[in-house]
Amino acid sequence: MIAHTIDSIRSGLLKKEFSAEELAKQSLAYAEAENPKTNAYLTFSPDRALAAARAVDAKIAAGEDPGPLAGVPVAVKDVIVTKGLRTTCASKLLANYIPPYDATAVIRLEQAGGIIIGKTNCDEFAMGSSNENSAFGPVRNPVALDRVPGGSSGGSAAVVAQNTAVVSLGSDTGGSIRQPASFCGITGVTPTYGRVSRYGLTAFASSLDHIGPFSRNVRDSARLLQVIAGKDEMDATSATAPVADYIAALDGNVRGMKLGVPKEWMDGLPAETGDLIQAAIAQLIKLGCEVKEINLPHTAYAVACYYIICTAEASANLSRFDGVRYTTRAAAANSLTDMYRITRDEGFGAECKRRILLGTYVLSHGYYDAYYIKAQKVRALISRDYTQAFEQVDAIVGPVSPHPAFKLGEKLDDPASIYLADIYTVTGDLTGIPCMSVPCGNTPEGLPVGLQILSKHFDEANMLRLADAYERNTI
Ligand code: GLN
Repeated sequence: MIAHTIDSIRSGLLKKEFSAEELAKQSLAYAEAENPKTNAYLTFSPDRALAAARAVDAKIAAGEDPGPLAGVPVAVKDVIVTKGLRTTCASKLLANYIPPYDATAVIRLEQAGGIIIGKTNCDEFAMGSSNENSAFGPVRNPVALDRVPGGSSGGSAAVVAQNTAVVSLGSDTGGSIRQPASFCGITGVTPTYGRVSRYGLTAFASSLDHIGPFSRNVRDSARLLQVIAGKDEMDATSATAPVADYIAALDGNVRGMKLGVPKEWMDGLPAETGDLIQAAIAQLIKLGCEVKEINLPHTAYAVACYYIICTAEASANLSRFDGVRYTTRAAAANSLTDMYRITRDEGFGAECKRRILLGTYVLSHGYYDAYYIKAQKVRALISRDYTQAFEQVDAIVGPVSPHPAFKLGEKLDDPASIYLADIYTVTGDLTGIPCMSVPCGNTPEGLPVGLQILSKHFDEANMLRLADAYERNTI
């Protein structure tokens, strides 16, 4: 199967080298055949894909513009709802849930001619960093099948790395786009909070949740982001700020761009990752960037702050899964309370339960001030670190994760060590700034590592410009 890009599909369609229907059929067959290797897709959507592809072909035949994503096979993380197409959130609770509506990002990408070929596996309700918390089994990393793809958007990263989709949608609350992108050797973008509507994204931690693209090159992420970004009446937190022209920004010119490298991130970074990040920084200097060390002094508190706020919000958001609505309901209950209790006990996996307990605890009377309010204050300090840093620099570069993809099962009995590895990703979400991962080489063992780029609120254009310039001059 050819490793297409959005541009190569467009030109193939317009030159009549293939039709959108042919490409969709071929992509579906390939994805279904490859899927047993990774378990990255939970559901395929052949009817929807072929109908969308025929619509693209009809537009081309009528001489109309088929849209910026015409004929592009797209996979969608299974926490993003799709009308009439099973959406499980990788939870037993929603194993048979058929949503009655589409997420705004889904509507926009289909209006742009995108072809949804399936829904991807993830950690249950997007909680995790390895994709091992799925009720439907873990995803394997296509680069090294005995390793995790990262999480929670592991399936969406794996399908793009495996070439069973051209681009995909993931969600990021504390790193779930950037970390799997880094582990699978692809690009992943977390836009500014509010840049892409969250309508139809199953809520994990509403003040931190983002939808964003995965792709094999920076340009494709820019193209997908261009389509899904922008104000949406259905999400009150979606931003009215005008959407920049992300493609025009990819001009390769980063001369004079001021970059900051956080001292707190580089100190103690293991060499297998650190050497590649240093090499990437050296490359950026060669491209004309001015690099200086900066400080993000509250980094040490970031993981604790994140896990208090995200569990607090998750405990409230997950209360809707009670057996009354949606799919699963305990059969053996004697009373309403029993029904809630047994449904939730049987339906949620261990990680979700851990977070509901922790979140309920930090919100409870007597602990609210000590934990939740304190964490909100720390969140403000973390944001201030970035505000101060961006007074000196245009963008920040550093690692995504302290280590590359680890072995399946390796960290299962040590959730705290998994939480701690989120150190470089959670602060971007806590602050709401755009951030992304772009591949920067492989460790001596052959495992991909991503370079993280972060920029000011709504400055996706410069972030993508830098990532694209770097990609052009390294790959
Ligand atoms: N690894 C983080 C967590 O487990 C981030 C998850 C996410 O971004 N959805 O919460």
